[in-house]
Amino acid sequence: MEIEEFRAHAHELVDWMADYMTGVEALPVRAQVKPGEITAKLPLGPPTAPEPMDAIMADFKQDILPGMTHWQHPRFFAYFPANSSPPSVLAEMLTATLGAQGMLWQTSPAATEMETRVTDWLRQMIGLPEGFHGVIQDSASSAILCAILTARERATGWQANEAGLAAGPEIVVYTSDQTHSATEKGAKIAGLGRQNVRLIKTDPETFAMDPAAFEAAVLSDKAAGRIPACLVANLGATGVGAMDDLAALGAIAKRHNIFAHVDAAWAGAALILDEYRHLMAGIEYFDSFVFNPHKWLLTNFDCSAHFVRDPDDLVRTLAILPVFLKSREHGAVIDYRDWSVPLGRRFRALKLWFVIRSYGVEGLQRILRNHIQMAAELEARIAASTEFSLMAPRVLSLINFRYAPDGIAAPEALDALNERLLNAVNDDGFTYLTQNRVHGRYVIRFQIGHTSTAQKHVTEAWERIEAIAATL
Ligand code: PLP
Repeated sequence: MEIEEFRAHAHELVDWMADYMTGVEALPVRAQVKPGEITAKLPLGPPTAPEPMDAIMADFKQDILPGMTHWQHPRFFAYFPANSSPPSVLAEMLTATLGAQGMLWQTSPAATEMETRVTDWLRQMIGLPEGFHGVIQDSASSAILCAILTARERATGWQANEAGLAAGPEIVVYTSDQTHSATEKGAKIAGLGRQNVRLIKTDPETFAMDPAAFEAAVLSDKAAGRIPACLVANLGATGVGAMDDLAALGAIAKRHNIFAHVDAAWAGAALILDEYRHLMAGIEYFDSFVFNPHKWLLTNFDCSAHFVRDPDDLVRTLAILPVFLKSREHGAVIDYRDWSVPLGRRFRALKLWFVIRSYGVEGLQRILRNHIQMAAELEARIAASTEFSLMAPRVLSLINFRYAPDGIAAPEALDALNERLLNAVNDDGFTYLTQNRVHGRYVIRFQIGHTSTAQKHVTEAWERIEAIAATL
């Protein structure tokens, strides 16, 4: 493509992007296509001759867009958010244009040095103590994997990387029954085996990990000759947003020389608000921490902020060069390729720099407080309803509820009814929610976290849910 042609298409595209951002509200939130429908529109083989950009864009609009679920829709209340913002998108355009690969300091010094600086901005923003060093991973799953790998290496005296695990004792990871599946996946990938992940029971009311049960499991594993190696504690687990007591768990981990990691993938963003800083009490016991600006801090996927207390341990775990060539040994530069599983890395710090500068910390705080306030109002509305019930305490902007009209008491019947309700709501397309299980019962999750969600979107969505429920 000639550059002048590129310029013209880019201008058109930016207009389309701005129109999309304002017009997305009119589209169904969840794609309303059937499996295979999009595949059927894609030619079986690649074109041999060049095609004009106008034709490609026309097909994108007509064939591809209907197959997209609109994560940036103001009535997207499913999963956790993967929110974005105009400054973040601008930065992504620059990142794509530069097309730099920042695996080494040398391969783009600005990418490395900005990553160090903006992750330290984030550290300050969430009140993580000095002494934690940041790196941007593609996902929280990668950060958790890095934590488990580092724990494995520490527990085996740095031998697992060299000799494998076959000869040694089993290495155990502790986490709660509320934890995201990323921890089990990390343990599987690290070769520890799923059977060596202990899903410690949680308090039935708060869903926080039971510290006594954690320590009992550690002692029992030690007695059986296994090595307790890693704790993954939650701040804001996926289902109901469970918050673990970091001080209680961290003290136990410290006592038993266990590497301790905090998974705050979603809720970590809320720590930019002073009123939630107390959740971090006990962080002094922890070795690493992750949260995703790509979830709730207006920064496009992917951007996961991973903080480690001892970068040398991480580098020793992941470095692919002999120790005498490690760039950290030279003391002058960081080569982030040794801080993550993939070698290659995009310039992800740029979008954070754009977002934080463009909104300022106060602007970001205002948006998150607003989300939480809207959730509190919805919670009050559900609490006052005779037909709907809250199924767990609201955590930040996350609510778990259930439709329970008069006359249906059997739990299984309510499970089935709520599943029908959720499917009907999502098929309707006006809003999008996802399901959960609380104490074994099927419930519906409602989280508020999109950048442009306003009160009217929450109200309209709730009224649509009530209206659909009335038809079942
Ligand atoms: N931890 C929690 C609490 C999550 O909710 C999620 C995803 O939603 C993850 C970890 C995994 O995040 P990622 O998609 O960044 O790997």
